[in-house]
Amino acid sequence: MELWYTEEHSESVRFSIKVSKQLYSEKSEYQQIDVMTSEEFGTFLTLDGLMMVTEKDEFIYHDMIVHVPMAVNPSVKKVLVIGAGDGGTVRELVRYQSIESIDLVEIDEKVIEISKQYLPFTACALEEPRVNLRLEDGLRFVRSKQDEYDLIIVDSTDPFGPGEGLFTKEFYGNCYTALKEDGILVNQHESPFYSSDAAAMQMTHRRIRSFFPVSRVYQAHIPSYPSGHWLFGFASKKYDPLIFDAQKWNSLGLKTKYYNTDLHSGSFALPNYVKELLENNLY
Ligand code: SAM
Repeated sequence: MELWYTEEHSESVRFSIKVSKQLYSEKSEYQQIDVMTSEEFGTFLTLDGLMMVTEKDEFIYHDMIVHVPMAVNPSVKKVLVIGAGDGGTVRELVRYQSIESIDLVEIDEKVIEISKQYLPFTACALEEPRVNLRLEDGLRFVRSKQDEYDLIIVDSTDPFGPGEGLFTKEFYGNCYTALKEDGILVNQHESPFYSSDAAAMQMTHRRIRSFFPVSRVYQAHIPSYPSGHWLFGFASKKYDPLIFDAQKWNSLGLKTKYYNTDLHSGSFALPNYVKELLENNLY
């Protein structure tokens, strides 16, 4: 008998991975959590039936969500990460000696626990002394913060379920206030390809743009996510992400599997249909 994990990428498109073994399946207080292994993608984590992390392609997502903002401002000291319970974003951040503290705000303790148990490839730095884990809603956490962070990374689930609040105007406005005067906000920005993802991506961009003077979008190819074409948002009070010191980042000597400074610039060059979605985006 064969066991397959199948995810609906649109109402008429499905994506399937042959499962070698189901390692975990349980509903937490917030969401359905599943961990499976597969020959092609290795171990993978899904939440509410949506792919979060696979052992094979997580490096693409985590390289791009961390190294792009860190190359733009390598002096970042205080970071807020929202979501990200699998630990991959923190694993990349702790490689920067210049970072003094990372507040990791994850709503679901179970995701942290399961990731430590089954996803050591991403969860390996969650115990690092610079990481302060807060088990609470990111939307509530940022409400009381002012002028505190150099960088906020929103590594959330999609805009429904527990992640819904992390795509609201209120949240982005509070992130703006929580950032220092040269602060950067990076978020997972959904996909431009299938219409429901594209609508979420447009809404997200519109809302972020209403607060930040600099609001750009960059892309990566992530095979296990819907359509494989994934976007990230880069918003800042000051920095243009295309003006950065590539030599300085390269001198850090960080070995990365996806990110490099040429790709950094290239990732902001968007296809015409994506540019149109972002520009014709008034409502
Ligand atoms: N890379 C992933 C993706 O985009 O598919 C995201 C991974 S990470 C596992 C997302 C995390 O965000 C989940 O563990 C979820 O529990 C957490 N999360 C969702 N809503 C949240 C909220 N309001 N506050 C804090 N964390 C939240």
